[in-house]
Amino acid sequence: MKALVTGISGQDGPFLANHLLDQGYEVWGLVRGQYSPKWHEVQTYCKGLKLLRGDLLDQGSLISAIKDCTPDVVFNLGALSFVGTSWIQPSMTSEVTGLGALRVLEAIRLTNQDIRFVQASSSEMFGGATGAFESPQSETTQFAPRSPYAVAKVFAHQMTINYRESYGMHASTAIMFNHESSRRGEEFVTRRITQGVAAIVAGKQDRLVLGRLDPCRDWGYAPEYMACLPLIAAQDTPDDYVLATGRTASVAEFAGLAFAQVGLHWEDYVTEDESRYRPAEVLYLCGDASKAREKLGWVPQTSLENLVKDMVNYDLAASNNG
Ligand code: GDP
Repeated sequence: MKALVTGISGQDGPFLANHLLDQGYEVWGLVRGQYSPKWHEVQTYCKGLKLLRGDLLDQGSLISAIKDCTPDVVFNLGALSFVGTSWIQPSMTSEVTGLGALRVLEAIRLTNQDIRFVQASSSEMFGGATGAFESPQSETTQFAPRSPYAVAKVFAHQMTINYRESYGMHASTAIMFNHESSRRGEEFVTRRITQGVAAIVAGKQDRLVLGRLDPCRDWGYAPEYMACLPLIAAQDTPDDYVLATGRTASVAEFAGLAFAQVGLHWEDYVTEDESRYRPAEVLYLCGDASKAREKLGWVPQTSLENLVKDMVNYDLAASNNG
């Protein structure tokens, strides 16, 4: 089996690539632009991964990439994935995160419609405007996106379903709730907190400035989410699946767990700064992954406590190594 993974240099791409390589897949990662040191880093992390050029903004390049590596399955992880930046670059976010998925679907439609496709959809799509909000959120919960990122993800999600229904393509989605690891980008709140804890322990800073502390997220461990994507692709029938732990915690609670790892009390160090608030906030996400459990046998194993411990320990070690 051959797989093509977009977004190979993000947090999730290398986890998925390694999982597929372990299962005997030939794995291709799509990289854009000119050479970047990240390519080397990813190939060091994923032994045996092959890279090929292509850009989610460039339809022709995607068609060429698929013709070149002739995959059996394409996993579309590529996105401008940081919600905060999506207000600063809404058009670019729509191009990459939204239209990018459409371009991959088009490339499959125009080359070989038997290629299977899995779209990385997001719990941000649920958003949660005013009024009654269903919780926990499942595959049948209505979307109410609250950021340009979330709007783009809804577009990509619905387009995936549309290609499934219009062309009979094996196109599925994984509606993934927040999933973290020590590879998480430094702009995301979990990593900001664990790096902040390490910097405070090392005496490099004495405070950690965050935005809103009350939003709640369902935080899972990224490699477990990536291990589910090939299961989705392997089903006889394409479908949509929520991937989540079912447990939610506030930003403050996450900070509490992280500071407790080093024997400190978070309230002595964390400042909530209104200038870091988002133009619109998603206050509460908690996923119901019973469909993935029943149909795919997927059950996440890592507790929030162990996730936090892993991330804090990684950042403490990184800080000690300079
Ligand atoms: P998201 O759920 O994909 O937006 O993941 P993030 O890690 O970026 O944000 C999770 C939540 O943490 C959001 O509700 C943010 O508003 C909140 N938050 C509070 N302080 C910060 C901060 O300093 N950085 C980030 N990224 N988020 C913060």
